[in-house]
Amino acid sequence: MFKKILIANRGEIALRVLRACRELGIASVAVHSTADADAMHVRLADESVCIGPPAARDSYLNMPAIISAALITGAEAIHPGYGFLSENAAFAEMVEAHDLVFIGPTAHHIRIMGDKITAKTTMDDLGVPLVPGSPGELASLEDARVVAERIMYPVLIKAAAGGGGRGMKVAQNAGELEAAWREARAEAAAAFGNNAVYMEKYLDKPRHIELQVLADNHGEVVHIGERDCSLQRRHQKVLEEAGSPAISATQRDALGETVIKALKKIGYRNAGTLEFLYQDGQFAFIEMNTRLQVEHPVSEAISGIDLVREQIRIAAGEPLGYTQADIEFSGHALECRITAEDPLTFAPSPGTVVMFHPPGGLGVRVDSALYAGYRVPPHYDSLIAKLITHGRTRPEAIARMKRALHEFVITGIKTTIPLHQRILEAPDFIAGDYTIHWLERFV
Ligand code: ADP
Repeated sequence: MFKKILIANRGEIALRVLRACRELGIASVAVHSTADADAMHVRLADESVCIGPPAARDSYLNMPAIISAALITGAEAIHPGYGFLSENAAFAEMVEAHDLVFIGPTAHHIRIMGDKITAKTTMDDLGVPLVPGSPGELASLEDARVVAERIMYPVLIKAAAGGGGRGMKVAQNAGELEAAWREARAEAAAAFGNNAVYMEKYLDKPRHIELQVLADNHGEVVHIGERDCSLQRRHQKVLEEAGSPAISATQRDALGETVIKALKKIGYRNAGTLEFLYQDGQFAFIEMNTRLQVEHPVSEAISGIDLVREQIRIAAGEPLGYTQADIEFSGHALECRITAEDPLTFAPSPGTVVMFHPPGGLGVRVDSALYAGYRVPPHYDSLIAKLITHGRTRPEAIARMKRALHEFVITGIKTTIPLHQRILEAPDFIAGDYTIHWLERFV
């Protein structure tokens, strides 16, 4: 096992990794920008290194600075968290080239899955069902027209290098295709420096259901159940649950079998998530994230498995030590992503936190790096807290979430707590009856 790990991230996820390190008896090194000198992850880590000015490209994305910090402090491995460098194959290679361990999949798998077109062709070859669409990159507007006529409107043009819901444009009909094509390519070029796009049928009432997997370096692959992440705004997840109210354990296990077989074939390692759209009883793969997900705690709640601990153990070469048959799911879990935003307009609301009182009690977990007096910097993601509740049943998890949101006090900045409170009162949500388009109409 490692003696020291560097955490190449900030905020709640840096804390999450720190906690796993401490429980495993591993020393931790935090890295931070000058804007984060007072951040909680810096305070809780055993050591910390300043890696640059506030802008992420100069600090949390500054590969040489991060590698140097690891070498100077004698860390043996780097956990990238999510976002930032977590899905950067060149970074994973650079880490390994310096005789450090990247806590995640191989650079090869990051690269395959990072290009959504290659990811889809790979999964197609492995027998995983896909959303109907173009067989690969769209070569031209003319090509887009031909594919759209075949799969029928509405269609979605998506960036091959996509992420965070960017570079994605809908064309409801032939008249809208040219604009969607142009806008998607321009957005993809600006956001990812790559204007390659592909096409999918735009599904009208799907749910977003994803499967968490863990794979060790010895050929064992298991799934840790599904998460329903259909409650989204601008293609970004807002509230997640495990399991999905829409599918049965039998459906989940059948999907799990297909996925495990596919991942064994490609020799995948460490944690990963396969994202699917689910409509009319069918699953269709959209992408794979080769990292820890923001919403991983709901899977931890229902399985009792510490996913970050498992990531670290796997990276250290330890076998999983259990099989699918040993994994049991219990109860239901919800996660509310609380952001520093106006709950009505979603305008960012950075600033100084005056009061911070997180909820507690049975079945309540708060993952947050906030504290009273902390200044939420304007430079990074607006996520400030994840509130997770677990109950024996879905109604119990909902009741607990309402109670926990009621207890949660964050003053000095605006937060989306009131939005979550409204969602939890909505009859459609209570009935578990919602698709990826539901929240967009609700807010
Ligand atoms: P990103 O990598 O940018 O997050 P994804 O491919 O994961 O992009 O899609 C993000 C979200 O966009 C999905 O969860 C879903 O809500 C919506 N979406 C993606 N593909 C489709 C599709 N073919 N039809 C309808 N909605 C889609």
